[in-house]
Amino acid sequence: MTASAATKHEVVATLASVKKAEAGTLLPTYDRYQVLLRRGRGVYVYDAEGRRYLDFLSGIGVNALGYGHPAIVRAIEEQVARGLLHTSNLFFHDYQAELARKLEAISGLDRAFFTNSGSEAVEGALKLARAHARLKAGTRKLLRPGFQKKTHVVALENSFHGRTFAALSTTWTKKYRAPFAPLMQGVRFVKFNDVADLERKLDASVCALIVEPVQGEGGIHNVSREFLTRARALTHKHGALLIADEIQSGLGRTGKWFAYQHAGIRPDIVTIAKPLGGGLPLGAFLTTDAVAKAIKPGLHGTTFGGGPLTCAVALAVLSTIESEGLLRHVANIGAYLRARLEELQARHALVREIRGLGLMIGVELADAEAAKFVAREAMAHGLIVNRTHEVVIRLLPPFIIERKHVDELVRTLDQLLRRYAAETNSERRRLAGNSSDLAKVPAGRRRSQSSAATNVTNARTGALRSKSI
Ligand code: PMP
Repeated sequence: MTASAATKHEVVATLASVKKAEAGTLLPTYDRYQVLLRRGRGVYVYDAEGRRYLDFLSGIGVNALGYGHPAIVRAIEEQVARGLLHTSNLFFHDYQAELARKLEAISGLDRAFFTNSGSEAVEGALKLARAHARLKAGTRKLLRPGFQKKTHVVALENSFHGRTFAALSTTWTKKYRAPFAPLMQGVRFVKFNDVADLERKLDASVCALIVEPVQGEGGIHNVSREFLTRARALTHKHGALLIADEIQSGLGRTGKWFAYQHAGIRPDIVTIAKPLGGGLPLGAFLTTDAVAKAIKPGLHGTTFGGGPLTCAVALAVLSTIESEGLLRHVANIGAYLRARLEELQARHALVREIRGLGLMIGVELADAEAAKFVAREAMAHGLIVNRTHEVVIRLLPPFIIERKHVDELVRTLDQLLRRYAAETNSERRRLAGNSSDLAKVPAGRRRSQSSAATNVTNARTGALRSKSI
């Protein structure tokens, strides 16, 4: 295709034409927002018709520096100009060691392995935990009859660690796991923040405990400091590794480089991804020198992971977070966001709880219909938020948002919650006025039938179901 043909194609594509083309050619995995995105700038994205959206989701926590940040653009342009986008891991290039050193400095760990995604980082972390347990057991013990292998993994209820087999095995949500059984054997789930349950399930047969210090897909739930501290002590006691999955919470999102740093612990392995590559696919798992001894050349590898383009961009991302003082900014603007959302909660009975840390915030609403309405209608108001776990509005904005953006978000949420309450109340009154109508509605369906707001349709945004990746 010539350059002019490519441009022409882009100009004529519409949401309808792209939807139609995708429907016939892609696996039907995604229930997409009904928007065709074309451009991004700062904290805004623009659709094919030029409509602007304030982005409080940032590509599910990826676009930490927003869109079109000059540091990212420059790093990409410079590397493209060198003509070296990929080398494979058979060769050295200039950036892996520098990036690893930087990650080690901010995490307190010693070594890194680069991947292309979060799930791959989790896969690598779990493989490393198994390999480490074997190394510690020694070959003689492993061969002894009756020797209890140290292969179990403990994860938390409500967790999300990814979609590949081992990562999926440690993911709690049954509907993600069940269709693909049998998965990796030996995973035990511990009740959320339940130290007694952890004490019951973490024993000498466990090689690793994997924890998201702030659960993301599960609806933004902070793991307590007490749980993390006990988890650290118990894993030490039983010779198991503590894996912090910081794919969503890490690299500054909570106002510190890593969420585990709020609890003052150091895990044995940390997984990262999302914002690391500035929008390009790059993840990593980090570990200590002691644990890394379990890895020998050839035991693990990747074709693409840690290529020169992604690593050069990651260096630009990390140095920008530092040079622009974004950790402090995230903590400050996160506190402002939280305070403004708490005002909203005081005004709206529909807002049940506000959770999270820094710029990783969940607003739990009273019911799924309200959350669906808010997520759908926000889009019609030029605001992107995400609904997760049925009732939670998840906010993962770029780190660079300012007070005026928070105010814009809160104004829109305020309007939408007021509208939803007014519409459901008037519908309830109408049904109550005609109580014989209400009596005819089966009890289980009363709530949804009485929700006039659910009938508000919007051709532009369409229906939104719970979206997670
Ligand atoms: N772990 C956590 C905590 C995540 O939030 C995610 C993605 N939402 C993953 C793992 C999987 O990452 P990826 O989609 O890049 O494979």
